[in-house]
Amino acid sequence: MFKRILIANRGECAIRIIRACRELDIKAVAIYSEADANALHVKKADFAVMIGPDPVKSYLNIHRIVTIAVETGCDAVHPGFGFLSENDEFARRVTEAGMTYIGPSPDAIRDMGSKTKARESMIAAGVPVIPGSEGELSSIDEALVLANDMGYPVMLKAAAGGGGRGIRRCDNDAELRENYDITKREATAAFGDDALFMEKCIVEPHHIEFQILADSHGNVVHLFERDCSIQRRNQKLIEIAPSNFLTPELRAEMGAVAVKAAKAVNYVNAGTVEFLVDKDHNFWFMEMNTRLQVEHTITETITDVDIVAQQIAIAEGKPLPFTQEELSFHGFAIEFRINAEDPKNGFLPTPGRITRYNSPGGPGIRVDGCVYAGYEIPPHYDSMCAKLTVSGPDWESTVRRSKRALAEYDIRGVRTTLPFYSAIAGSDVFMQGEFDTGFMDKHPELLNYKQKKTREDIAAAVAVAIAAHCGL
Ligand code: ADP
Ligand code: ADP
Ligand code: MG
Repeated sequence: MFKRILIANRGECAIRIIRACRELDIKAVAIYSEADANALHVKKADFAVMIGPDPVKSYLNIHRIVTIAVETGCDAVHPGFGFLSENDEFARRVTEAGMTYIGPSPDAIRDMGSKTKARESMIAAGVPVIPGSEGELSSIDEALVLANDMGYPVMLKAAAGGGGRGIRRCDNDAELRENYDITKREATAAFGDDALFMEKCIVEPHHIEFQILADSHGNVVHLFERDCSIQRRNQKLIEIAPSNFLTPELRAEMGAVAVKAAKAVNYVNAGTVEFLVDKDHNFWFMEMNTRLQVEHTITETITDVDIVAQQIAIAEGKPLPFTQEELSFHGFAIEFRINAEDPKNGFLPTPGRITRYNSPGGPGIRVDGCVYAGYEIPPHYDSMCAKLTVSGPDWESTVRRSKRALAEYDIRGVRTTLPFYSAIAGSDVFMQGEFDTGFMDKHPELLNYKQKKTREDIAAAVAVAIAAHCGL
């Protein structure tokens, strides 16, 4: 039905959507900033239009992107994830310009985009939410009273938050006082909105999220869960489907609540309902992401559903091709986010030139990447350069296969999270298969892996040797 889709994104995310378009015989129009002239999504698209010199603002320029979509004859726009994907104004402008927005309605984006609004809607719908403030906090004094009422520890969170930013745990009054202004400043810098709210801190929780698909005919299903408990600084690193932590009964119960949450906001298209689950299997709604999720690949792998193709079909007005009863999953899938970051150095981004790039292959391996040998990773964007999705019939074989695939993966020139993931995949604690969000803090020994030297390390070592030789 759609003939041409503009993809308002870059990198690996844009390439994933281009691939779906190819398989559906739809032309893909890419956009790119000057800094992205050599990016792979530009080469892979059917058409590519330069949107501007600013590396980041270009991808956020609603007017220019909508104009390009109209001028290139697109009938739909896919926002991907990040950038404008949770911007209700963008969704509205795309529709007003006579095109279809591949995602939920602007109202659903707005209602779920603010975490405080989402909490209100979920409470009204009878969905359990994490105990916390009613709406936004108006002052530090209100925060102190509430924290003492609920009992520490508490979480201070940005209402407009995302990507793990603007979240701070506070264990006592002094920490709450200190973090209140810091979190407000962080929220302003990251989201242009300093509104904060408070939640009870769930101690050692599991992050479990349910993938939702909803069509425009009122059908809503879930595609089971993903366990995203392995995180650094509240951001996901490794995701697993299904979760080893859920019983079939709890899976069915949480899945039904996720569907109820989506129905409560008349949700249409793909979305994710995120929950925290404590060790006693109590669960609470945390937030809903009204877009495609980075880790959708593991759900695709265990359910054989192409989520991006479904997003397009739903936007075309087609009914879902399956009922909840017809859906099932098989085996396990693990996604490793391969980031250009140095885990030993606080996960600091390591942009630079990739000198060698060999990705793994063989049974059960899927790679969604956007880099190649000779590519210069620009410093302006997210540090994720590939996603490795490994699948197998059971947990143990999937972990063994992950170890093998990670060892095969060879990226040189910049440090990445690969050797760290090899250490994790090779550890007994990972093989045990159950983790909470404290996993990284509990296992600092996993950071003691050996790393390959980069060109800079070798150059520095040579300089030291020469200096010593010359008696400098
Ligand atoms: P999830 O999708 O699981 O919620 P994130 O919160 O990390 O995971 O997803 C949104 C993040 O995706 C943003 O914070 C941003 O850093 C990242 N992102 C945005 N655009 C892109 C892109 N084009 N390629 C890769 N990552 C991106
Ligand atoms: P984002 O929008 O940045 O994804 P979330 O609200 O989804 O933010 O939270 C991200 C992560 O922060 C969670 O996966 C969890 O590890 C931690 N977190 C958030 N809220 C709480 C809480 N109330 N108690 C414990 N951990 C929390
Ligand atoms: Mg989240």
